[in-house]
Amino acid sequence: AAKGAGKNCAHLFDSVLDEASRQQRALELDLRRAIRDREFRFVFQPIYSLGDNRLTGFEALMRWRRQDGQDVSPALFIPAAEKSGQINALGEWAIAEACRCATQWDHDATVSVNVSPRQLMNPALFGSVVDALVGSHLAPRRLIIEITESVFIENMSVALQTLRKLQTIGVRIALDDFGTGYSSLNFLRSFPFDRVKIDKCFVDNLAPDSSANAVIRAILTLADALGIETVAEGVETATQLDVLRREGCAQVQGYFLSRPVELDRIPLLNATLPTPGAETVVDLNAAR
Ligand code: C2E
Ligand code: MG
Ligand code: MG
Ligand code: MG
Repeated sequence: AAKGAGKNCAHLFDSVLDEASRQQRALELDLRRAIRDREFRFVFQPIYSLGDNRLTGFEALMRWRRQDGQDVSPALFIPAAEKSGQINALGEWAIAEACRCATQWDHDATVSVNVSPRQLMNPALFGSVVDALVGSHLAPRRLIIEITESVFIENMSVALQTLRKLQTIGVRIALDDFGTGYSSLNFLRSFPFDRVKIDKCFVDNLAPDSSANAVIRAILTLADALGIETVAEGVETATQLDVLRREGCAQVQGYFLSRPVELDRIPLLNATLPTPGAETVVDLNAAR
């Protein structure tokens, strides 16, 4: 009987796997169509400098609006596009589109674009970035490429070579989601990153007298020693912002400052950081 039950479980397991791969396959087909039909766009989340309280740039975050009006999260479709290889087509579009968008705003704020591991392993990436810069006339200094540690697990030499070439032409490289990888501290030395984005999980518990403050302090000290600029991600409260300011974090990004906004809302944004107690001037019309 036990053996029989095990067999049934195996069947159940198989059918769950089947169902998962069917869904993956359906998503792939849908992605192919969506790339063709241009159902993707960017929203932009402001990044502010704590030194002078000014808006310094935006992170471009992809959104997929399906024909039924539903927005699909990149947390869902980017991994699917990675798996199927469609990330290369999607990513090429993304870099060109982000550069084009950045030339639309009337200040020299930077644009940060996320690049996933498979894109960075593709030797054609460097050429796509150059094409995007040339095509949009965006100054390379205004483009920041965000990568995560997982980029380096495979085909490290291609990735490193591309990153070095990008820096040579003036594009800056940020290490995203810092602290979530398996050897983050050592990893920071493996490439001369221009910027490190401290993951939201280190920001979440910041509070006066919290032990989380010591962790942030250590990361800031390390980045500083290596000459790498710091950005804290996922700042949701005034308290977190106060601690980050006191600990000397250079820049911040998060819902407390602004949700990601549509391109046409960018001219309405405050050019300076909303200061505690001050009235928030514009309704940022949250783009989810
Ligand atoms: P990420 O690069 O770490 O982006 C930050 C994510 O945190 C974004 O989610 C952003 O909307 C969200 N976020 C920002 N501030 C806060 C906050 O205060 N609280 C909370 N709870 N969340 C906050 P999003 O837009 O859903 O993107 C998720 C991930 O998808 C990104 O993580 C990035 O890894 C990936 N992604 C997004 N756009 C692209 C793209 O164009 N290309 C590639 N390859 N990946 C992308
Ligand atoms: Mg990012
Ligand atoms: Mg991040
Ligand atoms: Mg992330």
